[in-house]
This record gives sequence, structure tokens and C-alpha cells, in this order.
Amino acid sequence: MFLPFNKPYLPWSSCKNMILGALSGTIAGNGKYTKKCHRFFEQRFGFMKVLMTTSCSDALEMASLLCRIEPGDEVIMPSFTFMSAANAFLMRGARIIFADTLSEVPNIDPDEIEKLITPKTKVIVVAHYSGIACNMDMIMKLAADHMLFVVEDAAHAVDSCFRGRPLGSIGHFGAFSFHETKNIISGEGGLLIVNSKDHEKRAEILWEKGTNRAAFYRGEIDKYQWIDVGSSFLPSDAVAALLYSQLSRFDKIQRRRKKIWWSYCELLKPLEECGYLKRPVIPEFSTVNGSSFYITVESGLIRDKLLHSLKEHGIGAVFHYLPLHSSPCFLDKHDGRALPNTDRFSSTILRLPFYYSLKKSQIKYIADQITRFFT
Ligand SMILES: *Cc1c(COP(=O)(O)O)cnc(C)c1O
Repeated sequence: MFLPFNKPYLPWSSCKNMILGALSGTIAGNGKYTKKCHRFFEQRFGFMKVLMTTSCSDALEMASLLCRIEPGDEVIMPSFTFMSAANAFLMRGARIIFADTLSEVPNIDPDEIEKLITPKTKVIVVAHYSGIACNMDMIMKLAADHMLFVVEDAAHAVDSCFRGRPLGSIGHFGAFSFHETKNIISGEGGLLIVNSKDHEKRAEILWEKGTNRAAFYRGEIDKYQWIDVGSSFLPSDAVAALLYSQLSRFDKIQRRRKKIWWSYCELLKPLEECGYLKRPVIPEFSTVNGSSFYITVESGLIRDKLLHSLKEHGIGAVFHYLPLHSSPCFLDKHDGRALPNTDRFSSTILRLPFYYSLKKSQIKYIADQITRFFT
């Protein structure tokens, strides 16, 4: 028996009908299921405007275009995150300024952001690691004081809140991912959330290759034209149908994932009390959304040994992220500042198997193997 890190939850009976439905109608983008998905997110979370994209990376690229990034603009973001946020801005000529994370939570440290703001700063990107909210009050205050955009990389954060407000709805733009490792999946897929009236129209134009085709389809204009830059950011309606089959099970999926999260939390509590490891620290302003479960240990050496030991016992635990500031792509662009919390999280974090069909007995087995390793 091997317990992998991830197993996509795809109840075929349910997706089948929807995909067949999509295949029999319009299968290009912005069809029936895309609209259903849009309505789901707008109604359920009160998002002002959403647009499905082919990935979260694409949603972040759209956010970068919407911020009208020009060469030399500075963008502050965490180094402890996925590279897509950095790529999106780097490709438009921005200078990326990496900030360190907090010491207890692997989210960007608002005090570090403040120190890095210059007259050239245009955007702050935050990532809500494992669905744990960043302190958005502090971040939005900094942005307002310095007239900056805030982009929430909410790839892990669907269905999670900061002080009761859905993550993705607080910054100017938000981005979700439906990659197969996330809570709600369509293989590859994403969602751009636009929270500012000023950018709603342009977002739709960028999404449709720089044309006003979406307005044309709504009958608002009599022909569509090329009016701005853009790309083909919209997914096929077959992908939207697959996503919609997940959205129709949203509560069921989320109930299960949160239960898995709390089971790990409960079972690993004694090890934290003995000082062997730390469980995630959840600030009082954040909810838990069952995105993933991670532990941190004392040193990189222990982490690597534990990873190896778990593998030998059939458990596919993984680690991430390698810090972006010292990655081969960025090493010669970094200003040399040390980011100690980022480096420490990167070398001591371990993510445990986490997927819908993971059984209580399997979670118990994983916790037992971790206990055996330490004791
Ligand atoms: C998964 C992930 C992304 C990218 O999502 P894609 O849909 O694969 O493009 C971006 N940011 C974070 C934090 C992620 O975990």
C-alpha cells in the first residue's frame, strides 16, 4: 500500500453527464458551464466579477496586465511561494522585491513589506499559504497609504476567510487555482476575481484576446473588435463542465477536507506537546479550509530523515517551496538581503498526504509512523 501525496477526486458518474452536455453544445470558452461556474462564485462568495482562466498562473498574468505593469515598476511578494506570481510580473518587466515571511506562519510579513516600499512600488502580492489568511487589514492599509494594488494569490484559499470576508475578495484582484492538487479541481484551471469596478470591463477584454467579444455576445454592441492587448485566457467549456461537477459537490468536498485537517491536527497534538514538531499556527482572524496539512520540525536534517522514513513506510509526504529569491532564475537579480524565515520554512516544512478519499485509518497510520519516527 502506498499513500500518495495527492489523489484527484473525480466521481466519474457525476462529471460524465456534464462533460457530455458540454460536448453536445458549445465547447469553446465562455459557454453554458463557464457561466454557471461564474454564477456559483459570484453568488456563493459575493465576488463582484469573476472570470475562469486556464490556470491560476494565467489569472495572475491577467492581474499583472490589469495593474498596467511597466518596466522598472516594483512588485513586492513573498519568496516562500509558487513561482507563478513572480513570472506574471517579471514577464511584464517588473522588478520583483522578495519579502520574508512571518516567523510562525509561512505568509508574507506586513512589517517587511512596509520596509521595502519605494516610490517605484506598484503592487503587493500576497499568498494565503495553505488557506491561512494574511493579515489583510494591515496589507490593505499599507496599499491605501501608498496607492498600491494588492493581488491575492488565493490558489490555496478557496472557501477561507479573513475576519469573515472570503479570501480573494479583499485585494484589487484575486486568483484561485483548480489544479488537481487544490481543493476544487478541473485538472488545470483557475479563476480571476476582480474587486474593482474600474477594472471589470478591461478584465473581460484581456480575457477575450483584447476584443470586446463578451459584450458582443451579450448583445451590447453590434460587432466585436480588437481594442486592447490580451490573450486567450479562457478555458474550454468542457473544462468548465468538469469544474461545475465539483462545484455541485462543493460542501461535501469541503466538509471532508476540513475533517481530514482536524484529524491530523488532533492526532499530532501529543508530538507538538513533546516538542518534536509544530502544527500550523492559525491566527484568530483566519479560518481553516482543508487545503493541506503541514508540520514543521526542528531542522532540515530531521525533515529530510522524516521524509525518507515516511517514504519507506509507504507515505508520500512532500516538501516545498524552494525559496524564489535564491532560485536559478532569480539569483542574479536578488538584492542580497537574507530572508531567514523563508529559508527556515523551506528546509523544515513537510506536507502530509491530503485528498478526499484519505481514510481515518490511513490518517491514523500516518500519524503513528510520525510518532514512531520521533519516539
Ligand atoms: C498552485 C499554485 C499556483 C498556480 O496554480 P496553477 O493553476 O497551476 O497555475 C499559484 N500560486 C500558488 C500559491 C499555488 O499553490
